[in-house]
Amino acid sequence: CGIFAYIGKNNAVTTVVQGLQRLEYRGYDSWGLAIPIQNSIEVYKTLDPLQTADITPIDVKGAMALGHTRWATHGAVNITNCHPHVSSSKQFSLVHNGIVENYQALKTQLVLQEVKFVSETDTEVIVRLIENELNQLQLKDEIQKESRLTPKDYQTAISQVFKKLEGRNTLVLICAELQLLIGIRNGSPLIAGIKPNNITADSYDELFLASDYYSFAQHTHTCLLVNDLQMICCEQNRVQLIDLHTNKSVEPDWQILERQ
Ligand code: GLU
Repeated sequence: CGIFAYIGKNNAVTTVVQGLQRLEYRGYDSWGLAIPIQNSIEVYKTLDPLQTADITPIDVKGAMALGHTRWATHGAVNITNCHPHVSSSKQFSLVHNGIVENYQALKTQLVLQEVKFVSETDTEVIVRLIENELNQLQLKDEIQKESRLTPKDYQTAISQVFKKLEGRNTLVLICAELQLLIGIRNGSPLIAGIKPNNITADSYDELFLASDYYSFAQHTHTCLLVNDLQMICCEQNRVQLIDLHTNKSVEPDWQILERQ
């Protein structure tokens, strides 16, 4: 299973599909993409092999896309269970590598609150929990007369939910309205890359967030390894790394890797 996300000026869909092809060696049974289009999220999911899939119908010019190759652990191999999973409001979309060991207990609690599930995956529990957190934050924001959720709200919701998950899990989420990309890791590797090769990333032309360096090595050599229990939050001109033990920002350690 693999994750590949992109923000930048090139065709996001083609860049992500090429990235996923380079992650094929990790194994997969289905794959999919999420693309923010006009404040909502469109998804494309398929059981076809990556090499033969026809992506021409979705060859949109988007600034951002998120892709996933799934290796099913919970729920059959079908389109509904395939990632990315989308929130009910279509405001965010999420991909997941790993297993939520306590998903059944979490799901039971949610079902008791009359939360509806569409797939059989452990991953959907994460989506529904984040929705719940965001709804609560939205209520608070409205009291404070903020009309919409902020990147900080998303960071809070994701880190709160992440702490409830047992097992080894890595997640990446995109939010359409805020053009936001957030990755959080306690399991499979997660590596960011930026272009041009400026080491500070206060601004960038292109950003990659993927399961390995090789999948974006043809684009850039400037990398940041996201460690376990860290969250990376990428806005259009800013990359922030947060330590989940302290909930504080830490200085990202960008490195230039050798050409391969
Ligand atoms: N447990 C998740 C699922 O079955 C994610 C599997 C993966 O890492 O690809 O959908």
